[in-house]
Amino acid sequence: MRELICIMCPKGCRLTVDDDLNVSGNSCVRGVTYGKQEVTDPRRYLTSTVKIVSSRYKRLPVISDGDLPKDRVQDVIKYLDTVEVKAPINVKDVVVKDVLGLGVDIVATRTIKE
Ligand code: SF4
Repeated sequence: MRELICIMCPKGCRLTVDDDLNVSGNSCVRGVTYGKQEVTDPRRYLTSTVKIVSSRYKRLPVISDGDLPKDRVQDVIKYLDTVEVKAPINVKDVVVKDVLGLGVDIVATRTIKE
């Protein structure tokens, strides 16, 4: 049995997931989905930054376009520390395609013209 806080909305319901993946404590169906996923295959979206060159800005904010296995998030953060991009960059441009072979792209969340 696991006890979790649902992070799918600010209400933060206290969930209990038993060994048969029955979820209780949720106020909506999203809590069931989250509770089962968190116990069997926890995943997280990632927001971070990468280095940008040839710009007056030093860092470009990025986000994963899908959720990543929670146990690989630190690997992706380390990898993003090695990435450099050049301006111009447009919002939603793919900065890293299929990061670490995880089937998720890293995309820009800001347009930087120069
Ligand atoms: S179970 Fe539903 S209401 Fe409760 S925190 Fe999760 S998403 Fe929000």
